[in-house]
Amino acid sequence: MEPAILDVVMPECPRCHQSVSTQAVTCPYCRTPLKAYGHPGIPLHRADKNEYLCATCVYDDDNTCTFPQRPYAKECTLYCDRNRPVETKPTYTRSFLLKSWLRRNSGWFLLAALILLSLLWAISQ
Ligand code: SF4
Ligand SMILES: [Zn+2]
Repeated sequence: MEPAILDVVMPECPRCHQSVSTQAVTCPYCRTPLKAYGHPGIPLHRADKNEYLCATCVYDDDNTCTFPQRPYAKECTLYCDRNRPVETKPTYTRSFLLKSWLRRNSGWFLLAALILLSLLWAISQ
């Protein structure tokens, strides 16, 4: 049986099985924590009753996990299911990075141009 994943779809509380909001930090009915550290953006993954999350986690597979609860984690914030496709990060080209760097620093370029023009004007007087 696959472990329950509580981050994306939260149709019901895993303990009392009442319907709860996907943003709910705790179940409004039984107060079961649904998110980690009280933050709605930190998913709390939870294994089913007789399962351990590590058994299907990619960080257990590649031996990069250093959490003390490994390999018997029943709850974990970093769990990554080996059976789910890995999200690929967007790749940025060099020209895109240069353009965004120029856009971020356009104020400094304008200031430098004004100083340079002021100096040129002062020298020519
Ligand atoms: S990240 Fe969590 S679920 Fe994955 S191996 Fe480490 S403790 Fe287990
Ligand atoms: Zn509940």
